[in-house]
Parts: sequence; C-alpha cells; structure tokens
Amino acid sequence: MGMNNYRKLLACLLAVVMSMSLLAACGSKKDNDQESAEESAAAQEQTEASEKEADEEEREAERPEIDYLIVVNSNNPVPSDWEEKITLSYTCNSVGDDVYAETRTYKAYLEMKDELEKQGVHVELDSGFRSLAAQQQIIDDFTEKYGASYARTYATAPGYSEHHTGLALDLYLIVDGVTAYENEDLMKYPEVWEKIHALLPDYGFILSYPNNGKTTYEPWHIRYVGKEAAKEITERGITLEAYVAEKG
Ligand SMILES: [Zn+2]
Repeated sequence: MGMNNYRKLLACLLAVVMSMSLLAACGSKKDNDQESAEESAAAQEQTEASEKEADEEEREAERPEIDYLIVVNSNNPVPSDWEEKITLSYTCNSVGDDVYAETRTYKAYLEMKDELEKQGVHVELDSGFRSLAAQQQIIDDFTEKYGASYARTYATAPGYSEHHTGLALDLYLIVDGVTAYENEDLMKYPEVWEKIHALLPDYGFILSYPNNGKTTYEPWHIRYVGKEAAKEITERGITLEAYVAEKG
C-alpha cells in the first residue's frame, strides 16, 4: 500500500469513526430529548396530581367542619342531616367487602394500620359507615346467627349506632395468615388487641366499649374523636359522653 492510499484509508476510517460518533451523539441526544420529554411529562403529571390533591383539600376545607365529638348511642340518635355533612372514603377489605368511612377517620386508620404492620399486627376494616338500612341488616343477620338476645346486645337499633357517623370502625384481624372475622374468633386474641389498643389515642381513636365491666366489651369497635380528646378520654378512663358533657 502506497503512502497516498494509506492516507486515504486513514482519512476514510477517520470519517467512518467520526460519523459513528456523530450517530452515537445523535442517538444519545435523541435519548436525552426523549428523557427530558418523559421527565417533563412526569413533572406535568405530578403538578396535575398535586393540584388535584390541593383542590380536594380545598374542597374539604370549604366543607363546614363536622363535630368529631358527636355522641351517638342508645340515648342519642344520629342527626338527620349528618349524612350530607360528611365526606366518605371507600376501601375494599381482604374478604372483598366494600367499606366506607369518614375521610379523616379513614386517613387516621391507615396511619395506625401502617404502624401496626411494623409491629407484625395485621388489621382490616370489617365495617365503617353504615346507613340505617345496613344497620337493620346486621340486626337481622345477628338474630339469625346468634339469636335475638345476642343481636340486642351487640347491635344497636337503626339510628342509634355510632356507625351512622362514619367515625366508628370495626376491625378484624389476620393472625398468622388466618382471618379472624367473627366476633367469637376475634375474642381469642387478647394480646393482639392489647397492642392495637395501646396505639389508639396516638391516632385519635378511643375504644367505645372498653373492658371495664360497665359496657359489653367490643375490642374491635373503635371511634375517631381526634388526638386531644382521645388522649384525655383514654387516660382518664371516661366515656365520650362524659367528656363532651364536661367540655360543654
Ligand atoms: Zn362497631
């Protein structure tokens, strides 16, 4: 190969290498463009999501504040306009039931559930908000399953259940992969309930029917009242009704 030819070959090779690197540069430029397009699309989505979230929060803030200390029990029926005042969140539990709960109550539950998971305790929502018709259905089911006397003890008449507020939740457990759902099965895990009950006030919940000999113990039935009230009610071992009466 003569010197000229050699130079030509070198020049040619150089040209090939240069065009390859140009191509590579284009390729990477294209990737960059694509990436930044994807990034800006993601950023856009994120902005939209946070705007949507802000909208929701704004809407929630615009709603008149509901009374988280409302007393609904066998002496105090749920106010007739309550249902239109509350916002409900929806979830589907592990056995496939639809469950609704008041939005702030549900958020507090989720936070508590996360903490319980860390402690190896798995809770699920059996029941939250109930319409009057749903409460009647429970009485009918309990009567059929356990008898009328049991139904009277464990289920309140429509209108008088704390579940109508959306602020009361019934929990059930999954222990070692086994679902404990029925009341008699739930009673078999006092040590699990102890862990759950210890966390309640920190998340704004109280136990409506504690094991104090005064009410029929329902370890699964928790009620959202907000942290301040929950701490005081629990520490003093008083009822929500007594707390509200005191505060006027
Ligand atoms: Zn309940």
